[in-house]
Amino acid sequence: MQPNGEETTTRASLDLLYSISRELTSALDLGKVLQRVLTLSMSNVGAVNGSIIVMDESGNPIEGIICVGDKMIENATEQLTETLKGGLAGWVVRNQQEALISDTSSDERWLRRPDDEEGRTGAKSAVSVPLVVRDQIVGVLTLVHPSPNFFTLAHLDLIQTIADQAGIAVLNARLYEESIRRARVMTALAESASVITASLDLDEVLQRILAQISDALLVEVVSLALIDPQGENLTFQASSAGTTKGLIGYRVKLGEGLAGRVAKEGKGEVIPDASDHERFSQEYERNPKLDIHAIACAPLKSRGVVIGILEAINPIEGRFDPDALEVLTGIGSLAGTAIDHARLFEQLQATHQRYLELFQDSIESFLISDWQGNILEVNRQAELISGYEKADLLTKSIDQLFSIDQEKIGSEFSNLIPGETLTTESELSTKYGEEIPVHIYIRAVTVDDGTNLQWLIRDIRERKNLDRLREDLISMVYHDLRSPLSNVVSSLDVFNAMLPQDGDPAFRSLLNIALRSTERIQRLTNSLLDMSRLESGQPVVNLFSTSPLLLAVDAVEAVSPVAETKNQIIKLTMPTDTPSVLVDGDMIRRVLINLLENAVKYSPAGGEITLGADTEADLAKIWVQDTGPGIPPLEQDHIFDKFTRLNPEGSQKGFGLGLAYCRLAIEGHGGQIWIESDPAQGSRFCFTLPLAKN
Ligand code: ADP
Repeated sequence: MQPNGEETTTRASLDLLYSISRELTSALDLGKVLQRVLTLSMSNVGAVNGSIIVMDESGNPIEGIICVGDKMIENATEQLTETLKGGLAGWVVRNQQEALISDTSSDERWLRRPDDEEGRTGAKSAVSVPLVVRDQIVGVLTLVHPSPNFFTLAHLDLIQTIADQAGIAVLNARLYEESIRRARVMTALAESASVITASLDLDEVLQRILAQISDALLVEVVSLALIDPQGENLTFQASSAGTTKGLIGYRVKLGEGLAGRVAKEGKGEVIPDASDHERFSQEYERNPKLDIHAIACAPLKSRGVVIGILEAINPIEGRFDPDALEVLTGIGSLAGTAIDHARLFEQLQATHQRYLELFQDSIESFLISDWQGNILEVNRQAELISGYEKADLLTKSIDQLFSIDQEKIGSEFSNLIPGETLTTESELSTKYGEEIPVHIYIRAVTVDDGTNLQWLIRDIRERKNLDRLREDLISMVYHDLRSPLSNVVSSLDVFNAMLPQDGDPAFRSLLNIALRSTERIQRLTNSLLDMSRLESGQPVVNLFSTSPLLLAVDAVEAVSPVAETKNQIIKLTMPTDTPSVLVDGDMIRRVLINLLENAVKYSPAGGEITLGADTEADLAKIWVQDTGPGIPPLEQDHIFDKFTRLNPEGSQKGFGLGLAYCRLAIEGHGGQIWIESDPAQGSRFCFTLPLAKN
């Protein structure tokens, strides 16, 4: 059976469709696909000229091709941009429909160019169809014939059929190209990442960044500038080409020129034609050897913050790839982080070095050990004090140098509280067999991720010698004064007894002064003796049931003459039924006299002093309250230490022994002594003593 006319046309259309789809689907390169679409459509309708513009999702032209006769012009995107704005292709895109122009000279939609003048190609006919895929226009195909009225509606139909097929092929090719481009960008970034982050040396990191950008973008020069710490200027730190080395150190204000603008706004820019001088600063004027024709600039970012910029100048192939800015921006993010890390590492090293120098040059002796006591590090001073060389010390453990008071430190340093220092005294065995008394400060320190022990060792030979000297002096004073003093006291007593009742009052008064003074010296020497006894651990033995009130009356009587010279009142508020205490009466009387003497000494003229007591369970609590300056809280504990004086340069004389004696004496009786002091109200010295059992 012969096919009828309609069937023949359908058959031809199907053949055409088949060959079109075969032709188009066999290529993935966008340029090739466009050429084929154009050639196929032109040959099928007999067009002489034609063009295709491909657009991205936002409608911007990304690829274009023009065919004039048998000449194919690739990369014609820029030429076609104008048509897309104001010509026939633009009309097709805006109206989303095909167009047939029978006479271009009389149709508004045709963008007239000098070429369309009558004397030249003159009036033509044209068809233009959108390339649509899933309701989205991906391009426009336009065909032209030099004679008006050439194209018919059948041509338009045919072109539309081809365009429908071509749309899919163009989209595929575009996606393919996009994925290739992505892969290229990702590969460039991955390569850069591994190279740039492989070093922590700042200079090397900068050089690697420049080299990576040169390789990835194939440009003549790469430069890098960092924002200074004040955040006002960019300073160029590195540049890849010898001719631009003079740029290093050059400063650009933030916001000025291309580099300053990118640094301020944090967004990269490409200037494809750098003759447009307005848009970038003249930072390269200082390098007249460099003639800039294209430049790309991207921010260097670390943790989302711009820390500088990167510039890629003069692509070797004449123009930047479309993905150049993306690659440069990607490297900018990697590089910013790498620079930040390198800078942090430099700071860390500097701090480490400073710490090492401090440690090494310290005038104190330091050892670092692990928790088993093995010595890990020592400083020069530790070598000096121990006599051992560092290498020897590193083979030793702490207990080979000195023994540690286990009770104080706790087993396995359990008493060592993080952040606090334990102190103890010991003797350091030196290489030369000497035993040096040392004070040791131990604390846990964090070194390289682990905690170790830091031992500060202080030579206390001088202090020990001084202490010994003081002890010797005290015992000398005591021994050499004691017997002549008791001779003086007994002689004065005899003298007193021999003095007639109606004798010269001046004589009696002088005798009283002599008696009181010698009693004071006796009290002092007795207290010194008690102190050395109590310090050597001897117990208080002469314990008798004694009335605190009687002791208090005695003590008040002893200090009254001095208090009277200062117009001070001593109030004895102790209840008469205060129960008896079990004490060495003479020792406690001296404690009371010491406290009262201090109260008199430090209270102003006309001041008031109170001596009171009450009973708490099986203890008597006795106190001396004055109206003096009080004791600052920080001093309240160690004021009871020997030789401690708050104001040694002040007008009040003393040795700092009185309160030390009081504490030793009270504690020797099983009591406690402390201060309750409010500077506004003077001091209250309190102590407790055990009650005597009935
Ligand atoms: P001394 O009085 O011989 O210096 P003490 O051991 O008795 O030695 O006192 C030690 C220091 O405590 C004194 O130097 C003084 O600074 C301070 N102090 C003692 N008692 C008082 C007090 N009642 N008020 C203010 N400061 C006092």
